[in-house]
Amino acid sequence: MSSLEFNHVSVTFADAGDTPLHAVDDVCLTVPDGESVALIGPSGCGKSTLLRLACGLMAPGAGKVLVDGAELTGPRRGTALILQDFGLLPWKSVFANAELGLKVAGVPAAERKRRTETALAQVGLSEFRDAWPAHLSGGMKQRLAIARALAQDADILLMDEPLSALDALLREQLQQTLLDLWLTRRHTALLVTHSIEEAVFLGQRIVVLSPRPGRIHALVENPHVGREGWRASEEFFAVCTEVRGLLDEGVAASGAATAEAFATTAPSAEVQR
Ligand code: ADP
Ligand code: MG
Repeated sequence: MSSLEFNHVSVTFADAGDTPLHAVDDVCLTVPDGESVALIGPSGCGKSTLLRLACGLMAPGAGKVLVDGAELTGPRRGTALILQDFGLLPWKSVFANAELGLKVAGVPAAERKRRTETALAQVGLSEFRDAWPAHLSGGMKQRLAIARALAQDADILLMDEPLSALDALLREQLQQTLLDLWLTRRHTALLVTHSIEEAVFLGQRIVVLSPRPGRIHALVENPHVGREGWRASEEFFAVCTEVRGLLDEGVAASGAATAEAFATTAPSAEVQR
């Protein structure tokens, strides 16, 4: 397993028109080996940019991204990124989609088969191995995307609003799946979400970002993640309320005109992306 660190990271997009677009400002954040961190913040505050940096798909304008203390210079095999739109290939079967990362990495066929079968079993998709992605429900598609990361044996799992496209019930099921996987595997997890409850259900630490340029507005320690009955507990709702307050505060402090993005009922409502 591996640690992930953002060290004074800033990103400015030069190609965004006449004036440079300052997307991320001086972010310092460490996700220690085996910990689960949730990132939450308003639309356009640089969350996806931070994940692209974390998986080495882009380099910061200033500062460093480090994995296990070494500066990241490009994509690494042990890091998987799970996206909202699943990233599946429609012309390949469930099994072929799940084993894709292993194939690209040149893993021999027998080992590929074994690891892919295990990963599909872990997300409950074994009996659908020969189906086409088009025949899967949204929740199953996202399970398949997760299986692909598991087959790769990723030790850093980056997730960019992975459950946003799912309806509420499915979403809770998949949140439980993500929690169970993390409790069993103890990978290093960085989850971007616009759902306060999802952040509080899954993140041992919740990072609240301010509107663009994304800065860390607050860190909330959330040590009870994984505890039996956590979602229904009073402390859970207290943390949700705290995070909501910090989001409002971050928006107000930035003077952004997007305060209405959070003007929904506490604590179960979601922040708009
Ligand atoms: P979030 O995921 O929090 O909604 P993003 O990280 O996608 O935000 O984007 C942060 C800001 O940077 C947004 O204003 C977005 O329009 C801008 N941005 C993102 N990628 C690029 C790019 N490749 N070129 C120019 N601007 C970009
Ligand atoms: Mg995004």
